[in-house]
Amino acid sequence: MCGVFGVVLPAGAEPGAAAVAALGLFSLQHRGQESAGIAVSDGEQLMLYKDLGMISSVLDERRLPSLRGDLAIAHCRYSTTGSTVWENAQPTFRLGPRRAIAIGHNGNLVNTRDLLGQLHGGSARLPASTDTELLTALLADEPAADTVEALLRVLPRVRGAYSLVVLDERRIVGVRDPHGFRPLVLGRLRLPPPATPSRAAAGPGLWGDDAATSGWVLSSETTGLDIVGAEYVRDVEPGELVVLEQGREPRSVRFAPASPALCVFELIYFARPDSYMEGRNLYEVRRRMGMELAREQPAEADLVMPVPDTGAPAAAGFAEASGIPYREGLVRNRYTGRTFIQPSQTMRHRGVTLKLNPLREVVRGRRLTVVDDSIVRGTTTKQIVELLRRAGATEVHVRISAPPIYHPCFYGIDTQLETELIAATNSEEEIRAFIGADSLGYLSIGGVLAALELPYERFCFACFDGVYPEAVPYDAASRKLLLEEAGVAVRG
Ligand code: SF4
Repeated sequence: MCGVFGVVLPAGAEPGAAAVAALGLFSLQHRGQESAGIAVSDGEQLMLYKDLGMISSVLDERRLPSLRGDLAIAHCRYSTTGSTVWENAQPTFRLGPRRAIAIGHNGNLVNTRDLLGQLHGGSARLPASTDTELLTALLADEPAADTVEALLRVLPRVRGAYSLVVLDERRIVGVRDPHGFRPLVLGRLRLPPPATPSRAAAGPGLWGDDAATSGWVLSSETTGLDIVGAEYVRDVEPGELVVLEQGREPRSVRFAPASPALCVFELIYFARPDSYMEGRNLYEVRRRMGMELAREQPAEADLVMPVPDTGAPAAAGFAEASGIPYREGLVRNRYTGRTFIQPSQTMRHRGVTLKLNPLREVVRGRRLTVVDDSIVRGTTTKQIVELLRRAGATEVHVRISAPPIYHPCFYGIDTQLETELIAATNSEEEIRAFIGADSLGYLSIGGVLAALELPYERFCFACFDGVYPEAVPYDAASRKLLLEEAGVAVRG
């Protein structure tokens, strides 16, 4: 899972596309914390800056002024293909025989090995070991008139999950795979009227009356639009390219029929609660999931409390539907990363103990219903239950506002081995015993759909029910280090 952002500004607009893109990316930090980067175009050439680390440390104010241009894309990474090394940070950049191109990618391809076989020169030509680097090389090589035509030729051969922002010298293209596994939205940025005649003169063209005062934005989530002051226009549709160029309205080009399968995990857990997807505010969706959970999996308790922060909306809904008071019993240190997206097991373990502390006055002597949005490996939940018991809780009933995760994801969440998933190899009673809870209950798929008020067919539920919308080749048990195993060398 990653965050992508793109912006096209009118010519000469201040503070420049890099600053807008950095701001937009800040609202997507939860989508990836391993690396961050920006690529800009000044109309003639691309410039790139990227590094390992959090967005605020990579894209600080000292660096942004040197990234001059009206077009920019930005990316924050959570690795699903390739190691956490500098070369694998994004955006990717490639100066090919046909064009210069930079890409930010959210998702994971499932036919990476096939695509590698289509690259002239093979793995030796790749400076990094991500599926995105491979896609960038294929697009830069493609003998087509421009980037849009290159995308139309290459994308039909690409399978898996990809929401892309693609930058060349003169345009940004937003792309969503035919299933639309990962979100991508389009927004309009209305800028203040031009302050100087030269800026006013820069705008005339197909942007009509707003010629000098509008920009266009692409973002993984609507929060990226909010933070830069852009208004939501619409989602980029599955199977669609949206082409953004200065002086033009966005242009839509369809490259495949839509077969929607938005990752339901985005709505349950991953995206921010203030984002909107499928026309729904995600806080409200999660609150309703909590209400459904209270109906399906009631628990006798004195208090309902969330695992902060992501369990809070569902806990509020559970409390509302059950009539049990809602209290916060765990305080989260906001300056540590999200447990789920730390790249190694060692860091995951440290993450939990560093980031949660119980409120003993709230917890002591109480029967608790603790609401969270997922159990992946089970280790986090086990530590939370232990924390609460040590703080004096008399009973701990764990309720999960999602179904058990039985199957790995190949479309952009790094749970690629069934052995990593506690529900894949243990019964519910075994999980309860492992985490040390008095009882355990999950929301059903039917309960998720009731909360969403949308049909099953619009979503991917594969990690819950094993129905994969895009077939996954055997070797795409698509190992994360597939390209490194195929000979692509990166620094370790
Ligand atoms: Fe989302 Fe699960 Fe489908 Fe992956 S398998 S895209 S996590 S619903």
